[in-house]
Amino acid sequence: MARIGSYELHTIETGRFGLDGGGMFGVVPRALWERHIRPDDRNRITLALRCLLLEGDGRVILIDNGIGAKLNDKLASIYSVDYAHSELHRSLDQAGFCAADVTDVVYTHLHFDHCGGGAATGPNGPVPVFENALYHVQRAHWEWALHPNAREAASFMKENMEPLERAGQLHLADGPGTLFPGVETIVVHGHTEAQQVVKISDEERTLVFVSDLLPTAAHLRRAWIAAYDVRPLVTLKEKARFLEDAVKGGWHFFFEHDPVTIVGTPVRTSRGIAVAEERPLEEL
Ligand SMILES: [Zn+2]
Repeated sequence: MARIGSYELHTIETGRFGLDGGGMFGVVPRALWERHIRPDDRNRITLALRCLLLEGDGRVILIDNGIGAKLNDKLASIYSVDYAHSELHRSLDQAGFCAADVTDVVYTHLHFDHCGGGAATGPNGPVPVFENALYHVQRAHWEWALHPNAREAASFMKENMEPLERAGQLHLADGPGTLFPGVETIVVHGHTEAQQVVKISDEERTLVFVSDLLPTAAHLRRAWIAAYDVRPLVTLKEKARFLEDAVKGGWHFFFEHDPVTIVGTPVRTSRGIAVAEERPLEEL
């Protein structure tokens, strides 16, 4: 069992999906990125939808919750959504929890692959899945997602957002800060407006849920930035600064989308900062 401060940590795998490899690696040629992740015959790479649950201090905190079950057949096929090996509620159950236990849901951002599991279709429209939870989102991101630009609009689905506000379960945060004792957010703007990555620390260790700031371990390379990012040059700067802080602080990363690496520790190498040690969460 992994533990940081007063929290027990659980990996919650919520399924797998596929995104276009070119989209994931931006200007990097396929000849380079396919050495790290092999695409399928439609150029898609298989990615994890891996979330993190913290239990302690009377709270059960879930960071992101995958795609969920609301995508229509066409979209589920385009994104190759696969729940054969894992699914949100099965994984919660295996970890000893149910949806009603969750007191807080922290959304790094509102792209559908991060928040689709938080709302389900009810008889009168979509409703929050975590009925007892407060859902935490950055206010600037919430506003951005409610009125999306055309390039990013397909990633924001109103059915993942509106039920939270309707049910009075939404907490909008203004900028980075401490969400709970030992749990802080860092806010970055390259991937989308006001994405929050989540830093869990005690005196000895820091684990950062890096979300789409570093979707996979391969994205530690400077220019490996997803084409999905709305401000790639901002990502370039934010990533460099974040990686410097991480190496200095001896932080560990928890990867949401990396198909293989769950926890990785960045170190400085002759070719830049890279993940040196990969391990399961239990060996943190
Ligand atoms: Zn995203």
